[in-house]
Amino acid sequence: MNKLLPTSTAGSLPKPSWLAEPEKLWSPWKLQVEALVEGKQDALRLTLMDQQQAGIDIVSDGEQTRQHFVTTFIEHLDGVDFEKRETVRIRDRYDASVPTVVGAVERPNPVFVEDARFLRQQTQQPIKWALPGPMTMIDTLYDAHYKSREKLAWEFATILNQEARELEAAGVDIIQFDEPAFNVFFDEVNDWGVATLERAIEGLKCETAVHICYGYGIKANTDWKNTLGSEWRQYEESFPKLQKSGIGMISLECHNSHVPMDLIELLRGKKVMVGAIDVASETIETPEQVADTLRKALRFVDADKLYPCTNCGMAPLSRRVAKGKLAALGAGAAIVRGELLA
Ligand SMILES: [Zn+2]
Repeated sequence: MNKLLPTSTAGSLPKPSWLAEPEKLWSPWKLQVEALVEGKQDALRLTLMDQQQAGIDIVSDGEQTRQHFVTTFIEHLDGVDFEKRETVRIRDRYDASVPTVVGAVERPNPVFVEDARFLRQQTQQPIKWALPGPMTMIDTLYDAHYKSREKLAWEFATILNQEARELEAAGVDIIQFDEPAFNVFFDEVNDWGVATLERAIEGLKCETAVHICYGYGIKANTDWKNTLGSEWRQYEESFPKLQKSGIGMISLECHNSHVPMDLIELLRGKKVMVGAIDVASETIETPEQVADTLRKALRFVDADKLYPCTNCGMAPLSRRVAKGKLAALGAGAAIVRGELLA
């Protein structure tokens, strides 16, 4: 990107009400079979237009093509039985009924490559595509086959690498791995979390990113955040390792968050996607508030490495609020861009 402070979103955007019930996470599809394929493409075009009108520079599919950021990917793999469910504790935070790994995991066919190709056809702008990270994937499953979180993570890393290479060939400019689990399992991040992520990006020439966050604005996450104290220093564990890794960009939550801004210093040299939009609040930020967050971040990241972004995905918000927040992000970045160029 030649433009200073190129804007993007962390991932998901709300779906139209004819595609899935709005303001609800992981809401089931309202269409089936061919109508669903067409509906997802129409929704992708709408979400792209929303991003363009808001002045977002690096655009995405807004995750219109998936129901869940982890499960939709896993549904396309062999070795996982979705009928056989067990209750596990997700990210050490909430219990959920999850599918079971019953055999060797494999990717018989590409998962998102057709969708990415479709997005590529719609725009000349740089495009970003999100995939789940290996650690977050294993944390969303019951493993009755490998019986080792690490072993399964390495298997997923290999599969993610196959998918990522094909996404790159389809014209994706930035491949992002979502690893909210990095804020919870610090020992595993250290032992094999970053290593498996590096396996997932092996051989890629496009930009690579990791998104670590405090999650959507759902109750389980808000309750968890209330236990974290006045300063959230979780990133302190993973940032030094990511700084030394081959991952190019790191996406983190900043606005309305208890994350001390100076933790960004630990990433010096990397590109940083600074979350300047709170996804856990219905209140639309003003462009000036966005600008303020970006100015604070500029003390710890060089201007040519700062990518204004949202804290996390906006899927559970109303379309009106999400559009307002996108516009604030675009306008806030423009203010600071103007100051830097003045
Ligand atoms: Zn997130």
